[in-house]
Amino acid sequence: MQHPVRARMRSLAASSIACATVLTGWLSAESAEALTPDERTAGASACVHPAGWEAVRSTGEARDHTLTAVQVRRLERRLGDRLAALRDLPAAAPADPEVIRVPVVAHVLAPDADTVPIRRAGLTRQVDILNRAFAGRQLDATTQTPFRFRLRDSDLTINRSWYRSDYGTQAEKNMKRALHVGGPETLNLYFVSPPGAPATLGWATFPQSTLRHERLDGVAVNVETVPGGAATGYNLGDTAVHEVGHWLGLYHTFQGGCSRLNDRVTDTPEEALPQYACDRGADSCTAPGLDPIHNFMDYSFDRCMRTFSDGQNDRMGLSWLAYRG
Ligand SMILES: [Zn+2]
Repeated sequence: MQHPVRARMRSLAASSIACATVLTGWLSAESAEALTPDERTAGASACVHPAGWEAVRSTGEARDHTLTAVQVRRLERRLGDRLAALRDLPAAAPADPEVIRVPVVAHVLAPDADTVPIRRAGLTRQVDILNRAFAGRQLDATTQTPFRFRLRDSDLTINRSWYRSDYGTQAEKNMKRALHVGGPETLNLYFVSPPGAPATLGWATFPQSTLRHERLDGVAVNVETVPGGAATGYNLGDTAVHEVGHWLGLYHTFQGGCSRLNDRVTDTPEEALPQYACDRGADSCTAPGLDPIHNFMDYSFDRCMRTFSDGQNDRMGLSWLAYRG
């Protein structure tokens, strides 16, 4: 029988030792320092997975959208405060679910009436891929998370500007404000086509942003990343998995580079830089462990990424409890 999810989360949230294992550093002395102007204005609400497939294939280079240390500290401070508040909740709690069911609302953007970038069957397929990944069914004996996704609704909007929206643009904000539905527990999943080469594959908001920017919450993916799309190497639907990982509180495995705190998860080896393609044996840091090229939170090709770690699972559970549950 599976361990009751919510009880486990509460146990983690209540134990500074366990939390330190999962969220190494969030109890550090940094929580006492004042916010700098940079922290107040930093784009801590979103993270980008920018690896354009053309650039990846041709040069192995892409823009580095790793968060700054200041941004990470700010996010960790907010999460730590929320979890600390949970410790003060009354003991009586709802029945512990073994599965966390996440309703999905898919928003498909189209440039004109003659173009339907993805149909219902494609949306269902994408949600199936999410479920396979989060249930640990892309690899035998890998981490099984409690998250299960159900396509609750979908809509199609013809708007050329929104269709071409990219991370941080006014078009993105306008699109989300118009289309967003539900609360922080609802995964609003936008299918867009950002311009440029390299083009953005997808982006997501972190859970910490839901309280301040509720209608901007969600995940956007380049529609070319779905199975059969044009994003060669990245067209098996795992960009959505990666972005939902962010939406559930995960950083990139290369966040922080070769540092002790790294991605704030202790069982993902340190990694200096994103790994593209599928370079087995890559080892960019001297710390133990090869680069986690098979982890969904690296930048590997879809055929290469297939697992979350136990620590990431715990972190997603805590983030859900703090912000979305
Ligand atoms: Zn990312």
